[in-house]
Amino acid sequence: MDLQTAERRVKDLQNLLNQYNYEYHFLDKPSVPDSEYDQMLRELIELEAEFPELKFEDSPTQRVGGDILEMFTKVEHRSPMLSLGNAFGEKDLRDFDRRIRQAVGDDFSYVCELKIDGLAVSLKYTDGLFVQGATRGDGTIGEDITSNLKTIRSLPLRLKDPVTIEVRGEAFMPKRSFEKLNEGRLKKDEEPFANPRNAAAGSLRQLDPKIAASRNLDVFLYGIADVGETGVQSHSDGLDLLEQLGFRTNKERRKTSDIEGVIEYVNGWVEKRANLPYDIDGIVIKVDSLEQQKSLGTTAKSPRWAVAYKFPAEEVVTTLKTIELSVGRTGVITPTAILEPVRVAGTTVQRASLHNEDLIREKDIKLGDQVVVKKAGDIIPEVVNVLTERRTGEEIEFKMPTHCPACESDLVRLEGEVALRCINPKCPAQIQEGLIHFVSRTAMNIDGLGERVVSQLFAEKLIKDVADLYKLTKEQLLGLERMGEKSVTNLLKAIENSKVNSLEKLVFGLGIRHVGAKAAKTLAQEFETMDRLMEADQEQLTAVNEIGEKMAEAVSTYFSNEEVRSLINELKTAGVNMEYKGPKPINAAQSDSVFAGKTIVLTGKLEQLTRGEAQEQIEALGGKVSGSVSKKTDLVIAGEEAGSKLAKAETLGIEVWNEARMLEELNQ
Ligand code: NAD
Repeated sequence: MDLQTAERRVKDLQNLLNQYNYEYHFLDKPSVPDSEYDQMLRELIELEAEFPELKFEDSPTQRVGGDILEMFTKVEHRSPMLSLGNAFGEKDLRDFDRRIRQAVGDDFSYVCELKIDGLAVSLKYTDGLFVQGATRGDGTIGEDITSNLKTIRSLPLRLKDPVTIEVRGEAFMPKRSFEKLNEGRLKKDEEPFANPRNAAAGSLRQLDPKIAASRNLDVFLYGIADVGETGVQSHSDGLDLLEQLGFRTNKERRKTSDIEGVIEYVNGWVEKRANLPYDIDGIVIKVDSLEQQKSLGTTAKSPRWAVAYKFPAEEVVTTLKTIELSVGRTGVITPTAILEPVRVAGTTVQRASLHNEDLIREKDIKLGDQVVVKKAGDIIPEVVNVLTERRTGEEIEFKMPTHCPACESDLVRLEGEVALRCINPKCPAQIQEGLIHFVSRTAMNIDGLGERVVSQLFAEKLIKDVADLYKLTKEQLLGLERMGEKSVTNLLKAIENSKVNSLEKLVFGLGIRHVGAKAAKTLAQEFETMDRLMEADQEQLTAVNEIGEKMAEAVSTYFSNEEVRSLINELKTAGVNMEYKGPKPINAAQSDSVFAGKTIVLTGKLEQLTRGEAQEQIEALGGKVSGSVSKKTDLVIAGEEAGSKLAKAETLGIEVWNEARMLEELNQ
């Protein structure tokens, strides 16, 4: 990069980072994820290293924290409250370790601590009495937030010893308090906080302490500003002293003698952290000995003896390249965002479902936009929002098509639905999706027929509907790409085996609207054969327990279709079983079992039966098995390690049996 280009980029980065700092530290309302901020800061650090003439004193790389709010009294810190250097992976940690070794040799230890995602506070005690508490501010001067801090119950107002001391820690909002707070705000039509950190900062920087008091904040202490006469020689001694004085410290810390121990600790927390009752955004690693800390010293911004390891980002920014459309089994058109590949929470993401047109409008998504992406429930990628301020004017409005991308027929929006649908029953895309559903595990369970093989079979015109599956020959299959002798034999065997499935698997596999696996089973149990089910009228269908009007209508409409009838005939001719083979449920009124007519919940681990087997037997005796405990539950059967359901049953005063008691009754 030449100097001129670098200068332009440095200016842009400085402006953006200043803006983000202001939003984050001053407004408690960030507009980009932390990972984006961190990445930009890193880029600026690198550019400043390459072009030292572009490094200025007021650069965001040289500043700690944010501005100080005028409304609070200013407090000067006894020693500066610094920021921490970042490490974004194992390599950065090893580099940090190398620097430490070069400076102090091999004889030292690290202390690893959770990096609590809250805000740094400094607390002053005089003769054991809490006299003043402050934010970090710009690192040298903070804001006096004493009255707000006093509302934190775990913060001692008087210490166990009458010492004069200044201590440092992190004030934070536990996840539960955060959820409750945001629920309440949404109910009152107030804007929710972006995350617990911002909520904690917002709560402590209120002029009215009643607000902070209502927010259930907490604090962990992790350091002493000036050990002075305390006799403390190391960071871990300091933590012990803090505990003795009555402060809350975080117990998850670990002392280790080398970087391998650090890496093990860090990796251990990548997943475990989800179970913590508070947010952490990384791990802080510190050299333990205070003497060694002193010899390592600090830069203007951060100590050289510590580093903050940041977990892989859970929210990142990337470009939305285009929107792809797919046609589902029921004709629903689903738009999917195609993204510039990006790492999110440890894996590469390049697609995210946008669900429907309304969502695209609501989020104001355009092609070419910079978007924030996260993994919902840590698995499914999702577009969180668009960074509209980054638009260049080149972005393109997205228009949903008026015709099916697969078969060109007109798309319709059914009343009360947000989705656009293709209603052509011969649409090849729908038929293909229907076939993938037909062979899936819960349906006909034909192994070896993945999406790839199905689309080849279609492309080669070897199948047009599910009945054709049963006419496939070995020669035809061998002609497909990547299909060897062995996989063809296995596939033909799987197709053959599927012929003997009990009726409910076929009913579910047909993909009748509104009929899920459970309803398919109910229908099969009730009507026993395909013929009887096909002949059932609406009245007979709705008479079945758990079959509503909508489903009954869908079923009778489906079977009244001539093409469906001829498809079923073809399946019959191919030898596919059309009868229900499972146990027949006993009508509660006919059963004299203790389970008859009762709503029963199974919880915990059973030893003799699987839960599925127990459910089947109970249902066969006329009982109903439900998934959650409520006032309507008659009986709870609790196996080993039963948890919240058992507890709830006990509070509601519901009868509880163990497994032995259940078996005794089942065997009667
Ligand atoms: P930092 O968060 O990287 O680290 C320093 C802070 O860590 C300390 O001040 C302290 O509050 C905290 N900490 C928590 N546990 C600790 C422990 N056990 N020991 C020591 N310190 C502990 O540095 P920073 O200067 O506070 O701020 C940068 C952070 O703010 C980054 O995470 C950055 O992503 C975020 N940020 C985000 C935006 C945005 O727009 N999204 C803007 C500015 C800053």
